Formats: sequence, structure tokens, C-alpha cells
Amino acid sequence: MAVHQQINKFIHGIGASPGIVMGRAYLVERFKVRLPQKRIRPEEVDGEVERFLKAIQESRNQLNEIKEKILDLEVRRHSFILDVHLMILDDQMLIQDTVNNIRKKKVNAEWALDLNLEKLDIAFKAIEDEYLRERRSDLHYVSARIFRNLLGKRHDDITKIKRKVIVVAHDLSPADTLQMNLNHVAGFITDIGGKVSHTAILSRSLGIPAVLGLEVATSLINGGDLLIIDGETGEVVINPTEVVSQSFLERKRRIKSMEREVLKYASLPAETCDGVRIHLQANIEMVGEILSAKAHGAEGIGLYRTEILYLNRKDLPTEEEQFQTYRRLAENISPAPATIRTLDIGGDKFLPDYSKGNEMNPAMGLRAIRFSLKETDIFKVQLRGILRASAFGKLRILFPMISGVEEIRKAKDILEEVKRGLAKAKIPFDRNLKIGAMIEIPSASDIADILAREVDFFSIGTNDLIQYVLAIDRINEHVSYLYEPLHPAVLRIIRWVVQSARRAGIRVAICGEMAAEPSYAIVLLGLGLDEFSMNPVSIPKVKKVLRMSRFDETRLLVEELFQFSTASEIESRVRQWMVERFPKDFVQSHTKGLTISISHRSFPACKLPAGRQHRQAFWKRKGVEVE
Ligand code: PEP
Ligand code: MG
Repeated sequence: MAVHQQINKFIHGIGASPGIVMGRAYLVERFKVRLPQKRIRPEEVDGEVERFLKAIQESRNQLNEIKEKILDLEVRRHSFILDVHLMILDDQMLIQDTVNNIRKKKVNAEWALDLNLEKLDIAFKAIEDEYLRERRSDLHYVSARIFRNLLGKRHDDITKIKRKVIVVAHDLSPADTLQMNLNHVAGFITDIGGKVSHTAILSRSLGIPAVLGLEVATSLINGGDLLIIDGETGEVVINPTEVVSQSFLERKRRIKSMEREVLKYASLPAETCDGVRIHLQANIEMVGEILSAKAHGAEGIGLYRTEILYLNRKDLPTEEEQFQTYRRLAENISPAPATIRTLDIGGDKFLPDYSKGNEMNPAMGLRAIRFSLKETDIFKVQLRGILRASAFGKLRILFPMISGVEEIRKAKDILEEVKRGLAKAKIPFDRNLKIGAMIEIPSASDIADILAREVDFFSIGTNDLIQYVLAIDRINEHVSYLYEPLHPAVLRIIRWVVQSARRAGIRVAICGEMAAEPSYAIVLLGLGLDEFSMNPVSIPKVKKVLRMSRFDETRLLVEELFQFSTASEIESRVRQWMVERFPKDFVQSHTKGLTISISHRSFPACKLPAGRQHRQAFWKRKGVEVE
């Protein structure tokens, strides 16, 4: 329940997607309607039933209207959730039992529906199946709509909002965000979630500021409150005074002009001052994001997450549907390459028919490649779709959550079988399609030298790798302070993976969010990674610092970092290094993480020899042969 109006109240959460924004709160408060309870006279019964049925009809109309207004085809395909809500509105248990309550108990419609919900709630709670149990929240969502219609309250439909708002919610599921017109969302605030939760990743990829893990946001904020959020520092101000607003807006203006400046780097190659060429690519979840990826200077798609194709629908995507999507991906990014990761379902994303109900610990459960190797029919359909699309551009396949050699061999065997089928049917595909393994489980990084013989490239997924190495749940805000990308254990692992890849002559990429932080990117450069993939918006600022740095100096920095024993020692050394190299550009943020902000100062141009030879020479000096 929202409490009294807060004035100039500061709260702190996790800065999950950068940017400062001021706007009115749009509270997604599905279950927070105060209900009047009234006894009615017998002669009022018919009128009350009519009022209830009218509210049901209004709810149907509203949902249909929302459905029709989804213009984006990609989003429309995921509108299944609205159909579920419409089905609930037709449910006789919901309607008839409420009507019976009005008639028999002689109570007003709100009370009658509430009594019915209590009964349904008990029934839902007893359901074993997680998916069906989840539908309980849909029931609540729908009933909150009916209640609002009964009470004649304004609806929270994001589609109806004319100006931008800041969405405030306890949590946001992918289904929630799909229903929103994201053009009207200026920012996201949630009580739970962390820096690498999917709301965070989605916000960053759409360039929408977000502060997550605030814990108390929905209890302190009222719908319509004026908010300022700083998605970098994690600061949120409720109903700021004029002085506070002005200082935030001033900071916003400064950052905006820095961003404009940094965007100039988007079209330049990511090459260090001493000529080492890095490939900066984008992580995306929808083909439509390619536009943003290109605008921010991505030289390809380093990670195309395919989960969204499978989510919020009752059926599975067909081979044809997947082929068309992957083909659009290949064609739109061409001649640059795109890496398609096979389904990484599980963890925090689930398919309707494959419940997480039995999993105490889904992050370590039947997810990603484990799921694909169990449900081989689903896996083969996806592989056929990808292979067919590979005839239309430069695609690579990436297998997620590989924990050992057997998994990669099994996945490759299935891929070969699918290839044979296509060849037999004379369907074209790229016969030299490169195969990669995500390195995100400690067992895989440990045997990177062995795994490197099995694949064409590695892609290090630090979002999960850090979670498993440090035993930090990536979506748990209570332990997010322990999520330390510069932990000595993480750096040792990356060093070993790079060395193993190097020795086997394969390329090594990083696609975890760590690459998007300029000061971490400097460390990753020194560790010798070939490709960095990140949310599109971060590419220009990372490109800029890479272009301003010397590879040989970052090597020395990294060597020095291995002398330290704690993450904080390493962080302070990196911070010091950044301040020395970029005195005007590096600003220490208020939060624990390192943040670089780029001023509009122009930097001296660096003209040095081409990257490839330089890099080869470097590795030769280290006694490692490279192609
Ligand atoms: C990762 O784990 O680093 C990664 C890129 O994959 P995801 O965030 O989709 O789990
Ligand atoms: Mg992962």
C-alpha cells in the first residue's frame, strides 16, 4: 500500500542501465486496489450483477484494444499473454461464482469477486504444476482490472499514456515489458533484480535508464509522483525539490553532451594506439535491435540471444519461423557476422510446458544446452533454422552453458545429423559454419585447453561465470555487492581461457556485461581477448577508451594486477590507472563500480602500425604461436 507523499526522499538501488531521467511514476500495482465492502438490499441485487458484468465487458474491450495497438510485429508475436487474460475473463468459475456470491450473500460486486478470488487462490496454491500456478498472477492481474472498472478508476495501461513515464514495479517479467509501449517508458524502477537480470539487460539494450533492487520502491512511491532516476549511480529521488531537480538536470545535460561526443567514435575502428585491432560487437535479443547496434558502431552481432522467440507463447516456434528470423538477422547485419546462441532456457526464463516446478535451484538446473540435449526435437528444429539461414549471411553457432567435452560432442553430433538431413534434401547451408562454446561454468573454464580442441571459438559469458565462480546469484540484490568482475579468481580464469584458446589457435570473445564497462574493457584488452560483445549503447564509450590506450601498457597493467590478492586492491589500481591515463575523462562514480565518463575534450590521434602483425609479434614474444 502506498504511504503518505514523500518529498525529496532519496533511495538507492543498483544502477542497471545508465542515464538520468525525470518523470512521473507509473506504478504497476496490480494488487493494490482498496475494496469497498457493502451489504446490499434484495432489490439492489440485479443492478449489482449488471454492474459486475459490465466491468467484465469493459475489461475485455480494454484488453482487445491493447492487443490491437501493438504495432511492432515482433512484439505482437508475443501477445499470447493477453489472450490468456481474455480467456480468464471468459471463465465461468470467475463469472458465475461471483454472480452467485452477489445473489446469495447479498454483497456488492467488489466484495463478491474478492470472496471468489480467495477461493480460487487456495485452489491455485495447491496446484503442483509451476506453469499453472504462475497463472495465478494472471488471475490477479485480470481481477485488478475488473476491480478498477468497478470502481471507475483510471487504468494503468501503458498504451494509453501520452507522455513518457517512469515505470515502477516490484518486478517486471519479460511478459510485462512486452505489453508496454516502450516508446512511452522513460525509465524503469523495481524492488528486486540486479545488474545482469534480464530487465537490466533489456533496458541497457534499449537505452532506457533503470534502477533495480530498490527493495522499497513500490511501497514509497505513489503513482504520479515526480521522480528522478540516475541509472548509473542507482540514485532515485522521490518528489525532488527545485534545487535538487536542477542539479540532476545539469548533470544530465553534461552527460548528454559527453554522449554526443562519444558517439563520434561509433564509426571508427576499435584499434589501440599501438595498432591492436579489437572486434566490438553487439549483444541483442531482437532482430530490430540491429539498427541500434549499427548506429553505435557494432562490427557484427557477438551474441544473439534466441530465448525471446520461445517466450510468452503457448506453442514452440516452428523451423520456418526461426529460419525467417535468423535469415533477417544474417541479411541485415551482412557482411558483418552474427553469432546465434542456441536456446538458453531455464535459469530465469522458462517455457510454458517445461516447468521449473521441480527445480529448487533453476540456475543450476535443466537449462541451456542440458535442456537442448534432453529435448532433442526442439534442438534440431532450431539448428535446422540456423543452418538454413547460414546460406544468407555469415553466421556462427554458440552453445550455452557447456560444462564438459561430452556435451559439446553431443551437440556437434546432433548438428552433423541435421546437416546430413539438409544436404540430403539439397537445402543450402554454410558448410564451414563455425561452432563456439560459451565459457560460463567453472568446469568449462578449467578444461578450456581440452575444450579448445573441440570448437572454433570461445565466448566467455561473465554474467554467469561470475555467478558460479563466486556463488553469487546474479539476480539477487542482497548479494550484488559481492558480484566482483575484478575478483582475482575471475581474472585468473579469463587469463587461462585466453591462453588455452591462443595455444589451440582459436578466437576468444567475451559477451558478458563486463565488457561494457570501459575500465573493465581495458583489463580485458590486456588479458588478450579478440572480440568484445556488449549492449549496443556501450560500444562507443568502450571504443573510445580502447582507441586511447596502448595494448602493451594494458598488458603490463594486467601483469601487475595479478600481484594483488583482493578485488578492491585490483579495482583501486585500475581506477588509478584510468585517472592517470584519462585525467579529464575518468570520473569516479558514487557507487562501488568503476565508471568512466567521457568529456568532450578531444584526444590526440594515435597513428601506429596495423594491429594484426603487432599482436602476432606480441604473442611471439610470449612464446605463443598464432595464425
Ligand atoms: C553470460 O552469462 O555472460 C551471458 C552473456 O549470457 P546470459 O546473460 O544470457 O546468461
Ligand atoms: Mg549466460
